[in-house]
Amino acid sequence: MAVKSPSGGLRAIPKLGLHTPIDFLRHLPLRYEDETSITLIAEARSGEQVQVQGRVIRNEVSYRGRRMLLVEIEDASGSLVLRFFNFYGSQQKQLAVGVSIRAFGEVRGGMLGKEMMHPRYRLADDATAVPERLTPVYPTTAGVSQVQLRAAVRQAFALEAWPDALPEAFRKSLDLMPPRAALQRLHQPPPEVSLAALQERTDPAWVRVIFDELLAQQLSLTQARRQRNSLRAPGMGDKQAVVRLLNALPFALTEAQQRAWAGIHADLQRAVPMNRLLQGDVGSGKTVVAALAAACAVGSGWQAALMAPTEILAEQHWRKLEPWMKACGVRVAWLTGSLKESEKKRVREAVAAGEIDLLVGTHALIESKVQFARLGLTIVDEQHRFGVSQRLSLRDKQETSLLPHQLMMSATPIPRSLAMTYFADLDVSVIDALPPGRTPIVTRLVSAGRRDELIERVRDALAQERQVYWVCPLVEESETLDLQTAIDTHIELQALFSPVPVGILHGRMNAAEKQQTMAAFAGGALRVLVATTVIEVGVDVPQASWMIVEHAERFGLAQLHQLRGRVGRGSTQSLCVLLYYPPLSAVARERLRVLHETTDGFEVARRDLQMRGPGEMLGARQSGVPMLRYADLERDLELADRAREVAAQLLDPGAPAAYAQAVEQHLRQWLGGREAFLQA
Ligand code: ADP
Ligand code: MG
Repeated sequence: MAVKSPSGGLRAIPKLGLHTPIDFLRHLPLRYEDETSITLIAEARSGEQVQVQGRVIRNEVSYRGRRMLLVEIEDASGSLVLRFFNFYGSQQKQLAVGVSIRAFGEVRGGMLGKEMMHPRYRLADDATAVPERLTPVYPTTAGVSQVQLRAAVRQAFALEAWPDALPEAFRKSLDLMPPRAALQRLHQPPPEVSLAALQERTDPAWVRVIFDELLAQQLSLTQARRQRNSLRAPGMGDKQAVVRLLNALPFALTEAQQRAWAGIHADLQRAVPMNRLLQGDVGSGKTVVAALAAACAVGSGWQAALMAPTEILAEQHWRKLEPWMKACGVRVAWLTGSLKESEKKRVREAVAAGEIDLLVGTHALIESKVQFARLGLTIVDEQHRFGVSQRLSLRDKQETSLLPHQLMMSATPIPRSLAMTYFADLDVSVIDALPPGRTPIVTRLVSAGRRDELIERVRDALAQERQVYWVCPLVEESETLDLQTAIDTHIELQALFSPVPVGILHGRMNAAEKQQTMAAFAGGALRVLVATTVIEVGVDVPQASWMIVEHAERFGLAQLHQLRGRVGRGSTQSLCVLLYYPPLSAVARERLRVLHETTDGFEVARRDLQMRGPGEMLGARQSGVPMLRYADLERDLELADRAREVAAQLLDPGAPAAYAQAVEQHLRQWLGGREAFLQA
């Protein structure tokens, strides 16, 4: 756990990524607790975080429902019960009747009077001094205590001076607090600081930290773009393959697709690695644009790789692409984890020998055993499903000194302002219209009380040869429970809709079973498909036109939009029923209302952003997008603009020599080792 470090006795905490003094100083409190005053029990209001002080008047272990320790304390104004579920015998002894303690926590107005659950407490009476400062609460993990972190931060301050990296000229005009003072104020707030300003992050100390973080991000992204422009990629001069593919397609490209393709095609012809995100709403036809890019690469003598996040999706791409690609002479293979080892080996050898032109697959593509002969283009579908390192390792799979072009695709539209700040090193193409002949999806909100009625409607629809997805929710706490719901629903619907064939698809099935089921549904042999969210991404069965989402209130906005995108792909009128189970929370109600009101993915994303904030929307885990730890792009848009300006001046080719040092120092302070992730 804690590792001895050579620097002045400061122990690294690798579990939290804390190694150097700089790491510790950058590890800022999540929030603060106010222990600077003591509240009278009678004045403590339910829902408030307060510190109270009193004498123990009762101490007993109760077995009502669960074993718990109940400690009642009393001050001059009243009494309050402290409840502990997990407690040690020593604790029970320590809190003996007559002892005076201070407890800090949230007060609740329990049935039997006021109480606190699991308060932080210590032995203290009137003679014990009250701290003068707010108490910082750090993000932490099991086994690392707040006390330990506070002590380590104190040590780190002694070891690290944290000089201001900004050149003098900027310091004056920006009017910012020096960084060391800002960090000190956040770690050890002086008595006069306002708790509200700290919590809302409007305190000048936060302003400096947020500015510095945004500046580091802008510097790093700008450098990455310059660096990329100095790298070489194969310039792709294909003359035939693309044309042949266009002729082989059963449809003409939409104008929006043509525009997106033109941008990508221009990039591919240049000898600089492309780094482009293709955004388009669900069903807007991104796959065919990716296929054109692959054809161009192969027609120019290079290999291409297409990576998708799930086996179902990888297989579907392969099935869809194979006939198209054959038409333009491209040899396609696919590779997923579930292939037999001997199969995989055969595919890998063919890829390494250059006998496969386009390799389609899942994460299996990035296994170290996979090597390409001449990889010129990597395509990552549903890019937000992959981590940054996964995307990087796909790019690094080639032996030549040339870097492959990179095309990423996503149906989760990112509002423009965000895209610019997060993706300074990414070009973005947008497919902003759906292929013709689609009728808009009608979305209905139906309360579970009308489920029987709904089932009758579905029965009628099935009589008219409709095909229906019936989506069961993911149960957060338990994958098994999740599965059980789907299985129960399958049994129920089989009985209700008999003799219409009803299938089931869920994450626990093996690849062959999933394949069979999807093929049966795509071919019409199955007419209803009960599925968990495994169908969320990319699944394309155009004639399926109805979707029922059970417990819609449990899904996120983006997820519901993705799910709904599975229908509305053919010319028949499509219907998406969001079946909800009251009572709805305010947020759930708002989510459902947004979906009812719009089918436009960008509008959905905008509302999602409003409701959740960009930090979460672009959470690093989900999207692979570098997460800003302290800045919030909606709140701090203005600071982001200033940071962008300062970054441009610092990196200006005509800037004073000292600026280069300033940049290096600033990046070391704020990124230290995370650059690769920010630049991906
Ligand atoms: P997504 O952007 O969600 O990945 P897909 O690439 O799966 O969308 O395309 C959705 C469906 O639209 C597919 O069945 C595809 O073949 C079809 N399609 C794509 N482009 C066109 C077009 N220009 N005209 C008609 N159909 C198209
Ligand atoms: Mg797709």
